[in-house]
Amino acid sequence: MTTKCNTVKILKILLVTCLTLVTLQYVINLVAYSYVSRFFGMELMFQRNISIVQYLPIFGKQSKSSSSFNKSVTVIPPVISTVKNLFPSNTSQINTSNINQSSTPAFISPNISLLTSKEPIRNESLPLCPLVPPKLVGPLATFTNAISFEEILKNNPDLQPGGRYKPKDCVARHKVAIIIPYRDRITHLQILLQNLHPILARQLIDYGIYVVDMTLPTSFNRAMLMNIGFAEALKIYDYQCFIFHDVDLIPENDRNLYTCPESPRHMSVAVDKFKYRLPYASIFGGVSALTKEQFLKINGYSNLYFGWGGEDDDMNGRIHRKGYKVIRYSVDVARYKMIKHTREKSNPVNPKRYKLINTGKNRQDKDGINSLKYKVEKIEFLPTYTYILTTINQTEVEAG
Ligand code: UDP
Ligand code: MN
Repeated sequence: MTTKCNTVKILKILLVTCLTLVTLQYVINLVAYSYVSRFFGMELMFQRNISIVQYLPIFGKQSKSSSSFNKSVTVIPPVISTVKNLFPSNTSQINTSNINQSSTPAFISPNISLLTSKEPIRNESLPLCPLVPPKLVGPLATFTNAISFEEILKNNPDLQPGGRYKPKDCVARHKVAIIIPYRDRITHLQILLQNLHPILARQLIDYGIYVVDMTLPTSFNRAMLMNIGFAEALKIYDYQCFIFHDVDLIPENDRNLYTCPESPRHMSVAVDKFKYRLPYASIFGGVSALTKEQFLKINGYSNLYFGWGGEDDDMNGRIHRKGYKVIRYSVDVARYKMIKHTREKSNPVNPKRYKLINTGKNRQDKDGINSLKYKVEKIEFLPTYTYILTTINQTEVEAG
């Protein structure tokens, strides 16, 4: 009897010890796991991964106040520096066989496509932007006093490096590069950007601003800078269309849509300088829009117009010779203010312009985007625009 009692007692003790040990181990595991994971920052790493997925796309959801945004910024610079490395200071010869592959973005580097390929993760869940952007206001009071680029960024906090933007809540219908031929007009650029950025955002466009400059002492070549802007912007992003934009023209109505045109569109129809009337029927200067396909079909602008005048009339000829018609919005919408200025010494009136226009027909297929030669000095992805400084060798360009 006593032996039986003892056995039961021993069994009871064993059972209690086992249970205590199991519970103790469970508690130890729990404490140890949470301690180790905290110590090695596993939770942090996990959160960081989420933020990378959300924010890595250049235009991903962003909130500057959140720490995740700052983390995303630390991810982007190496990519941008690679972009810079892609443009060695060599003479660039445009390979149009590359550009013509319209299904795949021309000139896109593996690094860039790596970055942009992440975009659909976010975009797939978003609806297409409405055909008529709901926040347009129509006629606008224009800002005509220059403010600093820092102020411009403050007023447009959703801008991404290089002056890029795309709508947050919907997939834009148009990917547009704004190409600004530029030399030494800083206040004009400030005024234009201050006005333009909010308009383009309201128009729900996926866009980037490219300011294309050329070194002195070569005479200014507006047309060639626009060809260069076209080629360089395509290396950066898969733009569908291009709006070539004088720096001194300020849009006065946000219903003047900076979208892809069905046919080449002249946009600066009514300018205050010309009493809001078209100065002549075939004008194509100021602000004009073309799709990538249209631009390639007409072989871009002529490269031969050094100095002021003629290149826009030449472009009008190119457009019509390739079977396109120029379209325009109505004068009450396509309105602009031109900032007053004098003509620069480095942009003298081109005495050869009429001769060049008259002989343009014979050159169209060999003078243009397919014969473009230039040197990129630098590309800067600034907060409110991308700056591209080039050198053009006039003798070489004129020799063909
Ligand atoms: N431009 C520039 N710096 C110059 C000359 C021209 O930035 O020294 C650019 C600028 O975009 C300007 C465009 O070229 O709006 C056309 O030149 P300009 O304004 O002199 O010609 P306009 O259309 O007034 O006759
Ligand atoms: Mn002007």
